[in-house]
Amino acid sequence: MIHIDGSFGEGGGQVLRTSLAMSLVTGKPFLIKNIRAGRRKPGLMRQHLTAANAASEIGKAEIKGNSIGSGELFFSPVTVDAGDYLFSVGTAGSCTLVLQTILPSLLLAKNSSRVVLEGGTHNPYAPPFDFLVKAFLPLINKMGPEVTSVLERPGFYPAGGGRFTVNVKPTRSLNKIDLSARGRVINQRAIAKTAKLPISIANRELKILKDKLNMAREDLIAEDVTGSMGPGNILTVEIESENITEMFTGFGERGVTAEKVANKTVTLVQKYLNSKVPVAGYLADQLLIPMALAGGGKFRTLTPSRHTLTNIEVLKQFLDIDVSIDQYDENACEIKINGQPYTMK
Ligand code: AMP
Repeated sequence: MIHIDGSFGEGGGQVLRTSLAMSLVTGKPFLIKNIRAGRRKPGLMRQHLTAANAASEIGKAEIKGNSIGSGELFFSPVTVDAGDYLFSVGTAGSCTLVLQTILPSLLLAKNSSRVVLEGGTHNPYAPPFDFLVKAFLPLINKMGPEVTSVLERPGFYPAGGGRFTVNVKPTRSLNKIDLSARGRVINQRAIAKTAKLPISIANRELKILKDKLNMAREDLIAEDVTGSMGPGNILTVEIESENITEMFTGFGERGVTAEKVANKTVTLVQKYLNSKVPVAGYLADQLLIPMALAGGGKFRTLTPSRHTLTNIEVLKQFLDIDVSIDQYDENACEIKINGQPYTMK
């Protein structure tokens, strides 16, 4: 059995999610202690518990310690049973992170799946739904599977209540991809969304982008979102290049001005554009699992985050892989993975 220390490295939910994802794919049981010990409220929160229970349902797993606040979890899957599922976080906890946990196994399963996820779809510290469809899933689809996703209702923090559907057509093994070069930037587009809040917030955010990123008026879109349970504001900047689309997000918050939200997002975009790398920080940690399962691949990215470094170590506990990080520039590195393509029995 694999023993995982949940306080290791970045010490957050990622250690748990990657362990669950890899356990499902490999069938290897694990015991994790000190879950999210590095966080202000340690242990399993609603989102992590939903992810663990979702993994358990798909894997017909034996599971112990799956209760709110638990610092320890034992997980031993039997199979990967693709099919129709509904997983509901029940709070505004991120349901894109629940998907992050179960998707790797569904990509390599024997049959197709249709999964409905409910909870937060646009949460700080989690991939927003837009990032999922514009940045992450297109790369997954380049690796062989066919994954599509449709947002039915947005769910902003703190009200939640969002819902989206994911359809997964799996593949036997994932193709390796090489993301060494970004290629020419083809399009830049910003969308500022408000729900149950004045649209002037979105317009103020877009004005900052227009001034600081020199974006054309037709690429700046303000959208009044309907169907949300509670108020919310999100600003996304999509950078479409020849080889990859990246997305940067600003989250509106009570007490934080629209200008501040936009300025923070501008800084992220400028850092990315100046660095010339194809893959930014969040995509870097999320690409590691599919690349490890593909048995190889490489990408150039910004200096790796603690999430990325932690994910590498957790992956090495489940798979026989080599990962090298070549810091070829002050702010940029190349991450290369070497192993064997994984096929589920
Ligand atoms: P954790 O903090 O351990 O719960 O992990 C957060 C996860 O959400 C990581 O996989 C991050 O890459 C991802 N993430 C956080 N913020 C964003 C964002 N703005 N865009 C895309 N992914 C994000």
